[in-house]
Amino acid sequence: MSEEQAHRALREELGVYALGAGSPDERAVVRAHLEGCAACRAELAELAPIAARLADVDPDRLAEDPAPPPGLGDAVLARIAAEGARPERDRAARRRRTRLGAGAVVLATAAAAFVVGWLVRPVPPPPPLERVAVQVVAPDITATADVVPHTWGVEVKLSGAGFTAGEVYRVSVLEDDGDEAPAGAFLGIGPAELDCNLNSAVLRPDAEGFVVVDARGDVVLRSVF
Ligand SMILES: [Zn+2]
Repeated sequence: MSEEQAHRALREELGVYALGAGSPDERAVVRAHLEGCAACRAELAELAPIAARLADVDPDRLAEDPAPPPGLGDAVLARIAAEGARPERDRAARRRRTRLGAGAVVLATAAAAFVVGWLVRPVPPPPPLERVAVQVVAPDITATADVVPHTWGVEVKLSGAGFTAGEVYRVSVLEDDGDEAPAGAFLGIGPAELDCNLNSAVLRPDAEGFVVVDARGDVVLRSVF
């Protein structure tokens, strides 16, 4: 393979390299070429900032964070605009566009795949909420609750205010056979509104209500489904 052929082949790998992908052997080959090729080093320097943004994407965070990383869309669009706006008669620019070639295409494809993947990501339907009546026993507390009938048990979504700051409140789901199943605990935060999700191992058809007790074990609110 001639120098020129090697350069052309390696240039196509730059996008992959910039993304940190490829086998150790492949990366070693690219590194070796970069040492002797200023053109590829320059191209890699242009690709690196975009690749870094793509690398910042944490797939685990995407599920809960309903937005692509800040600036990614702008970076991709700016890149596309810069390429498109370059006048055709500018021969230096045309050469530069040709030179950018494959590596930029790999990155643009990765960015586009990411954005498209984000747009068409499966969004689970919201779980069915069942509003349940809440009787507040303690003064100063206000609360509302919904329950969700999961396959593994009923979930209580409790919203309220006035739970004494720093005090531990425990929640139990009342079963139709008279038992109480623990559904978790939360800390009061005073007058501020709190939302907490409390999960029990009682199926919705077997659940008749829930109670919240304070640190002394006194019931502060109850709900009958
Ligand atoms: Zn090269």
